[in-house]
Amino acid sequence: MTQGRSRIRDLLAAYDLNPDQRLGQNFLADPQLIDRIVRLAGVGPEDQVVEVGAGTGALTAALVETGARVVAYEIDERLRPVLAETAIGAEVRFEDATRPLVLDDDPWVMVANLPYNVGTGIVLDVLQTLPQVTRMVVMVQQEVADRLVAGPGSRVYGVPSVIVALHGTAHRAFGVARDVFVPKPDVESAVVVIDRIDPDPLASEAVTLARAAFGQRRKMLRRSLAGILDDPQAVLKAAGYSDTARAEELAPEGFLALARAAS
Ligand code: SAM
Repeated sequence: MTQGRSRIRDLLAAYDLNPDQRLGQNFLADPQLIDRIVRLAGVGPEDQVVEVGAGTGALTAALVETGARVVAYEIDERLRPVLAETAIGAEVRFEDATRPLVLDDDPWVMVANLPYNVGTGIVLDVLQTLPQVTRMVVMVQQEVADRLVAGPGSRVYGVPSVIVALHGTAHRAFGVARDVFVPKPDVESAVVVIDRIDPDPLASEAVTLARAAFGQRRKMLRRSLAGILDDPQAVLKAAGYSDTARAEELAPEGFLALARAAS
């Protein structure tokens, strides 16, 4: 049964559950929006899908309906009886998804309405450590979506933007109003799609440089990188940058160029 607002309220009442704000429990109560997310994921019987944060199982059930194999993580044990009723056909793992996800080496698509407090970390960890996740269709806070897809010149361009761009191509698919959730969150959301690319062999070195650079965002790179490079000025010059350059001026490929010049 698709989960609209009244179905979610009924489920919560039947199992005497109050949504836990600390776990980012804002449940999607719009079947059309759920369909839209599933269509964007483009999965079918040949695919494996991993969902993070099954909640009351609205998205989980819609994913199962595509015929895909569905593995769903959920940290809140209180939802066990709810998911036993709603997520039939999915493998639900009551585990913390900020710990390494255990997925076989065949391709996976991640589809999730991510818990807002751990969403960014999960996206970045999956990109850097789980190459078998080839596509991500994730709902996150609007502000997080902006950071994930930002480029140089944007006020919110930073380490998350660099990590995403070095591991995939990303776009914001659409915005989501607050009133499609039960309960209504304080912030707007957006769905982001990331398609994995093969990262450059020096991607992790480039990320290390970006972390140091954005850690002291206002400083010139020759100063912010002094702690991790012996001769930052020589590296900047070899990569073709002025020694007055700052973190926000370098595109993700710029950090790769620095990593190459330093190696
Ligand atoms: N997928 C459901 C939906 O769209 O209605 C629920 C989404 S709700 C925004 C996020 C869910 O993630 C909650 O059910 C919450 O309990 C769960 N969650 C929070 N932190 C988690 C973690 N570290 N690992 C796994 N699940 C988590």
